[in-house]
Amino acid sequence: MAYSSKSPWVVHYDASSCNGCDIEILAALCPGYDAERFGVVNTGNPKHADIFLVTGSVNERNAPIVKQIYDQMVEPKVVVACGICACSGGIFHDCYNIIGGVDKVIPVDVYAPGCAVRPESIIDAVVEATAILDKKAEALAKARREGA
Ligand code: SF4
Repeated sequence: MAYSSKSPWVVHYDASSCNGCDIEILAALCPGYDAERFGVVNTGNPKHADIFLVTGSVNERNAPIVKQIYDQMVEPKVVVACGICACSGGIFHDCYNIIGGVDKVIPVDVYAPGCAVRPESIIDAVVEATAILDKKAEALAKARREGA
């Protein structure tokens, strides 16, 4: 297991969430559910983050921001769509200004549906994300070895 997956740092962005899913992310990270006991640390800096937690659907205004945060993260990185809005657009999917789920703009590795997504689902998704993070780290290290 790589160091980053033992203590994954997450960055959270509210694309166009109603705040329901955002509150659940905070609940997952705070002492009630206490994802920090597994080493999960919330950071405001994408450059320090391993896992990108996105809530809400993507629209014309926030799509460049979602992309910019993703681009600032260093490889390996994993994206988790939190809540059905982030997964597919949810109840807003046919609104005039909605592009769709987060995967319309950046690659999504883990989908955590729900309205709102439950803290238990968020923790499950982060655990799944850490396994993917390990695989990506291994692939990156292998590519670097072979390229050297
Ligand atoms: S999935 Fe539900 S709770 Fe989450 S942002 Fe969408 S409407 Fe709000």
